[in-house]
Amino acid sequence: MLIITGGSFGADVARRIARGREATLRHVDEPAEETYALVARHELVLLAVWRPYIELARGIDEACFAHGRPWAAAEVSGTTLTCGPLFAPGSGKGCYNCLLARADARQRSGDRTRALRQAYAADPALGPGGHSGPMAAIAAAALAETAAGEATGRFRKIDLLTGSVLETELIPRHDCARCRPPSADYVPTSRFIDTMVPQLERILA
Ligand SMILES: [Zn+2]
Repeated sequence: MLIITGGSFGADVARRIARGREATLRHVDEPAEETYALVARHELVLLAVWRPYIELARGIDEACFAHGRPWAAAEVSGTTLTCGPLFAPGSGKGCYNCLLARADARQRSGDRTRALRQAYAADPALGPGGHSGPMAAIAAAALAETAAGEATGRFRKIDLLTGSVLETELIPRHDCARCRPPSADYVPTSRFIDTMVPQLERILA
């Protein structure tokens, strides 16, 4: 698997997931095009980051879709840790753009979100520094479970201040061409179910 990390949180999550498993580690600050090129050589892609990296995540989503690779992220944003969902090309269970669109639709403070994204995009060092071990342990466990592919589309949002966990499901956008393919015999679907799931089970065993 390929694990792309950002911040001490991401490094800790990657260390926990990679323990005893074969994993390629990559940092968010390394050239994005080279990171995308690595996607084709790995069966599973994980992103573990201490703050949102929206453009990078979009690029990973594109590369994974192009190569039929499943991927998932553990991302801290403010006081919320989001783990999953597993974006599985051809599953019809939603892509990263669907997730962003749903999040934007839920948030009334659209201006604040936009301002935050611009600030994050402009300053690679901006974000909440530091993390706790249990926080990384929760993220690693949730990410490993998500990546096992048993509940594609489902994900968790953990409030880091209260410890409350929201389990929810990504509903794909009706107008997302990728998630609502017009053709019923879309090949990557069967490829994911027949090939990827057993492989993921083996990788994460
Ligand atoms: Zn989509």
